[in-house]
Amino acid sequence: MSGDLSDLPFFSRVHIECGPGWNDILRHLAAVVESIDATARATLVKEKLGLLRVYWEAPNATDEQLRTIGLVVANHERMSATACEKCGKPGESRTIGGRMVTMCDDHYAELSSFSG
Ligand SMILES: [Zn+2]
Repeated sequence: MSGDLSDLPFFSRVHIECGPGWNDILRHLAAVVESIDATARATLVKEKLGLLRVYWEAPNATDEQLRTIGLVVANHERMSATACEKCGKPGESRTIGGRMVTMCDDHYAELSSFSG
């Protein structure tokens, strides 16, 4: 579903474990990180508590570059709090069946109708 990110070097080593709605965020993140250190690689990409989580490594980066990448990744993870994980439309944090998700009104209505 989200396989169209595999052409990006930053994500070449990971299986993206979150919905396609965050692909734009991930694509932008890869471009910015690559401009800082082209050898940096994501090691894990997933959804946790309704938010995007990106783990990464940059063994060749300087301390300054590591700090900058850390800030860039945190900023992009924060963007996921307002974008539907399913479709990328404006969304917000909600709870479905005891699980925290970030979704637009439509996807929330659709999914919450299954879990009561
Ligand atoms: Zn949606």
